[in-house]
Amino acid sequence: MASGGGYRNGNHKSPNLRTSKSKLSPSTSNVRRCSNVSTLGIADAVSGRVRVAVRLRPRNAEELAADADFADCVELQPELKRLKLRKNNWDTDVYEFDEILTESASQKRVYEVVAKPVVQSVLEGYNGTVMAYGQTGTGKTYTLGQLGEEDPSARGIMVRSMEEILANTCLETDSVSVSYLQLYMETIQDLLNPANDNIAIIEDQISGDISLPGATVVEVRDHQSFLELLQLGEGHRYAANTRMNTESSRSHAILMVHIKKSVSEIESDLTGEYDISSHPALNFKPPMLRKGKLVLVDLAGSERVLKSGSEGLVLEEAKSINLSLSALGKCINALAENSAHVPFRDSKLTRLLKDSFGGTSRTSLVVTIGPSSCHRAETASTILFGQRAMKVENVLKIKEECDYKSLCKGLQVQVDKLIAENERQQKSFEDEVKKIRLEAQKHISEAEGNYAEELKEEKLKCQMEYMESIKKLEEKMLNQQQHPSNGITDGTYLGEGQKGFCTEEVTELKKLLHNEIKIRKAAEEETNKLKDQIMKFSEPELKGGNSDIVNLQKVLEEETRQKKRLEEEVNILKSQLSHLTLHAGLIRNSPDRDGNGSLLSGLDSPSPLRHLPYKDSNNGERGAITYLHGQVGLHKILSLLESEDACVQIHAVKVIANLAAEEANQEKIVEAGGLSSLLILLRSSEDETIRRIAAGAIANLAMNEANQELIMAQGGVGLLAMTASDAEDPQTLRMVAGAIANLCGNDKLQIGLRSEGGIRALLGMVRSRHPDVLSQVARGLANFAKCESRSSAQGTKTGRSLLIEDGALPWIIKNANNEASLIRRHVELALCHLAQHEENARDMISGGALWELCRISRECTRDDIRALARRTLGSSTTFLAEMRRIHIEL
Ligand code: ADP
Ligand code: MG
Repeated sequence: MASGGGYRNGNHKSPNLRTSKSKLSPSTSNVRRCSNVSTLGIADAVSGRVRVAVRLRPRNAEELAADADFADCVELQPELKRLKLRKNNWDTDVYEFDEILTESASQKRVYEVVAKPVVQSVLEGYNGTVMAYGQTGTGKTYTLGQLGEEDPSARGIMVRSMEEILANTCLETDSVSVSYLQLYMETIQDLLNPANDNIAIIEDQISGDISLPGATVVEVRDHQSFLELLQLGEGHRYAANTRMNTESSRSHAILMVHIKKSVSEIESDLTGEYDISSHPALNFKPPMLRKGKLVLVDLAGSERVLKSGSEGLVLEEAKSINLSLSALGKCINALAENSAHVPFRDSKLTRLLKDSFGGTSRTSLVVTIGPSSCHRAETASTILFGQRAMKVENVLKIKEECDYKSLCKGLQVQVDKLIAENERQQKSFEDEVKKIRLEAQKHISEAEGNYAEELKEEKLKCQMEYMESIKKLEEKMLNQQQHPSNGITDGTYLGEGQKGFCTEEVTELKKLLHNEIKIRKAAEEETNKLKDQIMKFSEPELKGGNSDIVNLQKVLEEETRQKKRLEEEVNILKSQLSHLTLHAGLIRNSPDRDGNGSLLSGLDSPSPLRHLPYKDSNNGERGAITYLHGQVGLHKILSLLESEDACVQIHAVKVIANLAAEEANQEKIVEAGGLSSLLILLRSSEDETIRRIAAGAIANLAMNEANQELIMAQGGVGLLAMTASDAEDPQTLRMVAGAIANLCGNDKLQIGLRSEGGIRALLGMVRSRHPDVLSQVARGLANFAKCESRSSAQGTKTGRSLLIEDGALPWIIKNANNEASLIRRHVELALCHLAQHEENARDMISGGALWELCRISRECTRDDIRALARRTLGSSTTFLAEMRRIHIEL
C-alpha cells in the first residue's frame, strides 16, 4: 500500500527534543533518530507522528547570478535523511528528517514521499493533512499548487492527490467534493465564492470535528473540473489580494477535499477474489461509509514571523498575518513538549488545523528552504519548526459510519419488491388452493357417490360375518364346557335322566293299575255270576236251607268288600300316579328360586287362543250342538263325559269343546263343573283323541283369567304336562301348548306354572317340530317373559328369569331367526323381554343372545320390535360393555 518512497508513518513515542550539533560525528550517534526512521512502517495505523520532509529549492537565476561561488548554507545527506545547516565557517548543525528532498527531487517523487501515504489513508477513512511551511519564495506553492498544465511533470501535490482520489473512487457509490478557502487577517474567505468572505469555523462538541458549513462545497466528477475549480480559486485569490493590496504569500490557502467511500467497494477492491456481495449472509450487512477529509494547506511565508520577532516590528498587518502562523508555532511547541495546554483557540489557523496536529489526522509537513546563505536565519527557523513538528504525535481514527440513508433507500426498494412479490405469490397460492380444493371436493363427492352404497353394504356384511364367527366361537366354547360333564350335546334338558326314570316308574304303575282294573273286572264278573246263581237258586235254597244262603251272603259280602278294597286300591294308585307325575315335574325343575322378573311394556298381550277352539264341527254341527245343548242341557252333556262308552265320551267332549270356544258359554261350563270333568279326562282317558279335545277345551277356557287360576288350582298344569309327555299327535301338543301359553300370560301364576312343570312341558313339546306347536311354545315363552319383565319392573321379581332357570334360553336363541314369522316374532319378543332384566344379561351373552338382539335391532321387519331391541340394548350396561368389548356398534 505504501509507496515505494521511504517516507513512512511509524511509532516514535519519545523523539529527541534536542537538535544535535555537527561537533559530534554522525558515527557517534549524536543524530537522534537514525536508528529508527528507516524501519518505521505503515503497520502503525493507530498512532501516527507528524511526518516532516525538507525540500530544498534549486537556485534561481538571481541566486545563481549573484552568488555563483557562494557556498550554500545547507548541505543535504538524503541517504542519511540528514540536513546540515552551516552556522558559520567552522560550525554546522545536523538535523534529521523523515525525508530529505534535494533540489533535484521531482514533483512526482515529492508527491509520493510526502502526500501519497496521506491520500491513501484518507481513502481508507482517515483525516489527512499535507502542509507546506517555509519562507516566501522557497517553493511551497510550487510543491503544492502547481497545476502543471504546460509540463505534466511539474504537477503539484493538489493535482496529483486529486488524480489518485478520483482513480480510487467510484462515481456511482462514492463522492468527492472540495472547498477552497483563504485565511487572511483572521478571516476565512471562500475562494470558490468570493461573496462568502467571513466563514465561521464550527467545532462539534462531541466528536471534535471541525467544519465550515458556510463554505461552498463542489462535487468533483472528473479531473478537469477539479483543475477548473483550482484555477477559479486561484483567480479569486489573485483578485482578492489585488483588492486588498496584499500578496498571496501573506495568506494561507486551504483546499479541503471530502471523500465518502462505501466500504464494500473498498473491501472488494482489497480482497479482489472474494466477492462479499455474493455471500448471502453478508447481504444483510448494512452498507458502511468511510468519510475521509484531506486538507492541503499552503501556508503564508514564514519569514514574517521571524522578521517580526527578530526585528521587533510592530505592524498591525504583520501581527494579524502572522497571528495564525505564530499560534501554530506555539501549538506545535506545546505539543512537542507535551504541555498540558495547547493554545489551539488562539487563531483561526490553529482552530482549523486542530485535528492535524495532536488530533486524529495523518499529517505530513513539507518544509521548504532556499539554498541562499542570505536567508540562513529564516532557513534555520524553518528547520527548527520542522524539527518540533516531528515530535507531534497524532492518534489516527478511522471515520466509518453506517450509510443509513442508502441502507434505508435500498431496504425500502427491497421491501417494496418483496411486498409486491409476496402479494403475487399469495394470490397465486390462494388460486392454487382454491383449484385444488374444488378438484378434491369434486373427487370426494364422486367417490362418495360411487362407493357410499357399497361401503354401507360391505360394512354390514363384515359386521354380520364378524358377529357370526364370534357367535360360533362362543357356542363352541360353551359346548366344550358342557360336554365333559354329562355328554349331552344339545344341552336342552338338564333333568332328562331323572325324567326317564320317572316315566319308567309311571309306566310301571300304569301296568299295575291295568292289572288291578282287570282283577277288579274279573271280580265284578265273578260277583255277577254269583248273583245270578243266587237268583237261580234262591227259592229252593231259601226253601231248602238258610245255611247256604247265609254262606252265599257271606261270600257276597266278602266279594263286595274285596271290590271296595280294590276300588280303594285303584284310587290310591291313581292318586299315587298323579302325585308321581307332579313329583316328576318337580324333580325335572331345579329348586325354585322364587324370583321376580323384569319388565315391561309394549308387548302382545297373551293372545286368546282364537284359533284353538275345537273345530271338529262345521256350521251344521255347530247348530246341532247348540240344539243339543238347548235340549239336553249342559249338566247332562257333562255327565256323558263320564260315560263308560268311549264313543259317547268323545262326542260329549267335542260338544263341550265347541261350547267352550264361545266366550259366553265358558262361565257356565266352569260353573257346572265342566273344567274339573275336562281335567279328569286328561288324567284318566286312555284315548288320546279324548285328551286332545279336552285339552283344546281347557285351552279355550284358559283364555279367561279367573279360569286360569282355577286350572292352576286344580292341578291342571301337571295334567297338561302329563298329557303333553304322552301325546304323539302334534295337534294334541298344539292344544296343550296353547293352554299352557295362555296360562303363561297370567302374572299371578308364574311361580306355580313353573313349579308344576309348565315351562318344562312347553320345552318338551318342541320335539314335535310342528310349526303350529312351536308357535304356541314360542307364544307361551314370550308371554312368560313379558310377565316376568313386568314383575321385575315392579320389583316383585328378582334374580334370573325362571325361563333361564328351566333351560329355555338355548331354544329361544336357536329359534330367534326361525323361518316361520309367527315363531320368530314370539321368540324375538321373548328375547327382548329377557334382555330387559339386567340379571339375565350374563347368561344371554354367554348363550349368544347378544348377536340375535343385535340382529333384531337392525333387521327385524317389525318397527316396534326393532326399536324395542335397540332400546333394550342401549339401556343395558352389561350388553353395552360387551358390545364395546367385541367392537360392535349399536
Ligand atoms: P513560495 O510559494 O514559497 O513563495 P513559489 O512556489 O512561488 O514560492 O516559488 C518561487 C519560485 O521558485 C517560483 O518561480 C517557482 O517556480 C520556483 N521554484 C520553487 N521551487 C522550485 C523547484 N523545486 N524547482 C524549480 N523551480 C522552483
Ligand atoms: Mg506561494
